[in-house]
Amino acid sequence: METKIKLVQGDITKEQVDAIVNAANSQLIGGLGVDGAIRRAGGSEIDRACDEIRARQGGCPTGEAVITTGGNLPAKYVIHTVGPIWRGGNSGESELLASCYRESLSLALDNRVKTIAFPSISTGIYGYPIDKAAAVALSAVKEFLMQGDGIGEVRFVLFDDSTYRGYEQALSALEGQT
Ligand code: ADP
Repeated sequence: METKIKLVQGDITKEQVDAIVNAANSQLIGGLGVDGAIRRAGGSEIDRACDEIRARQGGCPTGEAVITTGGNLPAKYVIHTVGPIWRGGNSGESELLASCYRESLSLALDNRVKTIAFPSISTGIYGYPIDKAAAVALSAVKEFLMQGDGIGEVRFVLFDDSTYRGYEQALSALEGQT
């Protein structure tokens, strides 16, 4: 089971997978961080697809996910999920963050995605502490993968050293538990 989860350090826009996940905002309006990088690399098709979703359903609530084309990216799809803003930990943040990973994987399954790459959702501008976010992210993904075998590989593509190290530690803690 663990072999299905891989950690890599790098730029998610370069990943050769069926779908990459974006840490979006609830308005689905282009932002900074990984959102800006994905939209720059993927081009205006992604912006247009997000505009259409906003017109249809008013955006995307925190903890949920929507899917668009990958535009010019190597990935066929971008799954946009809205992570919680860190407010100290007693505002349902961990449940909402776990929901982001579950909802993204469930949309991936619906679209026959076999390989998917996640960034570290909520740990940039939204301020979620890396160690806590990594533990939530990895256990949510692991639990989802245990329920079925539609997804072949989940990669976490971590941009900087400290984020990568946080996920490495959380993964070995999780593996130690089993
Ligand atoms: P949020 O608003 O959910 O906190 P951010 O985009 O601010 O989202 O940050 C989420 C994570 O994505 C951070 O760890 C940030 O360093 C990382 N990140 C930024 N650019 C990229 C990229 N091109 N590929 C992968 N991760 C990235």
